[in-house]
Amino acid sequence: MVKQLSNSLAHTDVSKTLHPYTDARAHERQGPLIIDRGKGIYVYDDAGKEYIEGLAGLWSVAVGFDEPRLVAVASAQMAKLPYYHTFSHKAQEPSIRLAEKIVGMTPAPLSRVFFTSSGSEANDTMIKMVWYMNNALGRPKKKKFLARNRAYHGVTVASGSLTGLPNNHTDFDLPIIPVTHLTCPHFYRFAHTGETETEFAARLVAEAEAVILQEGPETVAAFIGEPLMAAGGVMPPPAGYWQGIAALCRKYDILLVADEVICGFGRLGAAFGCEHYDFTPDIMIVSKQLTSSYMPLAAVIFSQKVYDAIADNTAKIGTFGHGFTASGHPVATAVALENLEIIEERDLVGNAARMGRILQTRLGELSEHPLVGEVRGAGLIAGIELVSDKKTRRPFGAAGKLGAMAFVAAQNHGLIVRAIGDTIALCPPLIINEDQVHELVARLSDALDDAAQWRS
Ligand code: PLP
Repeated sequence: MVKQLSNSLAHTDVSKTLHPYTDARAHERQGPLIIDRGKGIYVYDDAGKEYIEGLAGLWSVAVGFDEPRLVAVASAQMAKLPYYHTFSHKAQEPSIRLAEKIVGMTPAPLSRVFFTSSGSEANDTMIKMVWYMNNALGRPKKKKFLARNRAYHGVTVASGSLTGLPNNHTDFDLPIIPVTHLTCPHFYRFAHTGETETEFAARLVAEAEAVILQEGPETVAAFIGEPLMAAGGVMPPPAGYWQGIAALCRKYDILLVADEVICGFGRLGAAFGCEHYDFTPDIMIVSKQLTSSYMPLAAVIFSQKVYDAIADNTAKIGTFGHGFTASGHPVATAVALENLEIIEERDLVGNAARMGRILQTRLGELSEHPLVGEVRGAGLIAGIELVSDKKTRRPFGAAGKLGAMAFVAAQNHGLIVRAIGDTIALCPPLIINEDQVHELVARLSDALDDAAQWRS
């Protein structure tokens, strides 16, 4: 260990843990940033320094970091029934009420809910449901998935296979399920020279169709996508893309799965990403803003048609042999219900649309900055891609170096962001107000100036 870590918590962290998404050897040298408390859109480290949580934790804390109503509901549910499961015909009130609430909020034909604790588990559950369903329907060959490069669908062995990011596959021996990753629908990076956005979308839909025909439509079970790709670099789809993909899915009897783990419950300024982009999925995955991450919870939401095929098979086999100890956990589902009530009562979806317009406009002004290649996003999620040369769009030195510099500079200025390669991702809590949007952009702008100076 190079650095003498001053506080014993930091020392214990470094000597006793392995952190997710962290270079472990670098962590041994630099130690952790220990976050101690939160208030609204702000969090504070153990030395008392304030940060705007520009990523809402992990894209998830819609209502801010100190919502007393969620604390009260969790505590009341803990006192009444801290745990009960949902296996073998058992049920408890919070999970029943939450399922009803979710079905009421999501677009038709989604009408059934299966709870898990994480987005990864939800996607694994979805994969198993799709396979189980197709076996039940007497089409055992229809098992393959279509996903996209740079997609993020989780890290468990099956959901991690759907994810299209090298760091999630390398040396983990993934993917292990039959999946084809199609071109990432990011216009700035992957459109051909001279191609319009509509032409780009049409090319990607044609690519998907060619893969379906090559594999055989009778072998392709589902297409999964985040309405707006988030963790891979905040990339909104080109206009017309989702309509083209949805039409293909209908044509070849392929299930369309919207992974709304980040987009869901207002992030884009509409209740769901599929509403924002105007397409209807057969299956939806939600998590994160479902509980504002105060409790771990996720859900697979699906149509009656999918349900009926599965239900008939459970009658034949005698059970649906899948479920988790914490499926529908009463404290998590009670917190989710209250969190969704707060999102509705305070019109946080409307706030995301209003504040999102201001955020996107203010970030757009940063396009003039010498380091900024592209500003993109929708509602309260944005990506600022940094380049060394706006014309060639080349990174500065090794890819990710500029992003890492801007990340550190932002933290120095009291702003927590995510650097995805050279893209700075922003995704603040949905409760953010106008003054705070301006404050966030000012801190980011200062950080970019610092990064530009370090670079030269
Ligand atoms: N799907 C999407 C779109 C996500 O962004 C994430 C996590 O960021 C996941 C799935 C996986 O969720 P979890 O980290 O809860 O397993």
